Amino acid sequence: RAKAEGRRTYRFFTAAMDTEARRRVVLADELRRGLAGGEFFLVYQPQVDMRQGRIIGVEALVRWRHPTRGVVSPAEFIPAAESNGLIVQLGEWVLRAAAYQTRAWMDRGLAPPSVSVNVSPIQFRHPEQLEDFIGALVRETGLPRGVLQLELTESALMEASMAQADVLDRLHRQGLKISLDDFGTGYSSLDYLHRYRVDEIKIAQEFVQRMVDNRGDGAIVRAAISLAQALELRVLAEGVERADQAKMLADWGCHEVQGFYFARPLPADEVEKLLAQRTVKPASAPVA
Ligand code: C2E
Ligand code: MG
Ligand code: MG
Ligand code: MG
Repeated sequence: RAKAEGRRTYRFFTAAMDTEARRRVVLADELRRGLAGGEFFLVYQPQVDMRQGRIIGVEALVRWRHPTRGVVSPAEFIPAAESNGLIVQLGEWVLRAAAYQTRAWMDRGLAPPSVSVNVSPIQFRHPEQLEDFIGALVRETGLPRGVLQLELTESALMEASMAQADVLDRLHRQGLKISLDDFGTGYSSLDYLHRYRVDEIKIAQEFVQRMVDNRGDGAIVRAAISLAQALELRVLAEGVERADQAKMLADWGCHEVQGFYFARPLPADEVEKLLAQRTVKPASAPVA
């Protein structure tokens, strides 16, 4: 009886694993096919200096137009692409698409001062491959390096090897900018901020959204701003959705922001209209 029970459990377990494994294989296949079939595209979210409303940059964010599921969010497929390694290829596709879009904007006098691209910690595990890819891309497009900015998370830097530190150093010396994304959500060690070449801190949106009602979150935001100032790094707050958040940040000395209050991530042709104006007014993007 116990044996039968055991067998039944065993069978149930393998069936469940099968389903999960099959789902992962299907998603991996779909990602691969989607990449080959041109189903990915980029949207661009303006980054704004609130003092003049000037656009100081855009962040490229990837989207997947799935043939049956519609537009899929990166929160769903980036982790999948990271776990099966496809993130390296996808990440290179993103870098290439962003670089060529920037080139096209430059040719028409529309390019913003910086274009940020997210780099997964998994992609950063092959730092020389990333360095070579960027080198080739920059030569191919003739982009000035100062325009490209890589967004890395704390976890990518915490694990950084000598090889990775060297690559960051070389990229930085060639003019590429390094931004630390989602600041405050990772490890609490701050040592890497001056050990590696970091140009900018991006305060994670969680803190920005809670700081108006929560003193603790406000204290973290203010500490991040002073830390950036003391280390002479730029500081940008993400996820600004409302006027009161924008005002609080300005009062605390953080003038560079990104968020729905100013503009949502937009397809290239729509963000171009804002790039042509060079500025964004909060009123142009009422929060839904
Ligand atoms: P992230 O790099 O921190 O990007 C900011 C995310 O916050 C974006 O979500 C953006 O749409 C969203 N956001 C911007 N302003 C606001 C706001 O005011 N309120 C709220 N609630 N959200 C706001 P998205 O595009 O869904 O991307 C999510 C995450 O997926 C990104 O977070 C990034 O970690 C990852 N991701 C996106 N594109 C790429 C990519 O090309 N490569 C890699 N490796 N990761 C990417
Ligand atoms: Mg980012
Ligand atoms: Mg972020
Ligand atoms: Mg994030």
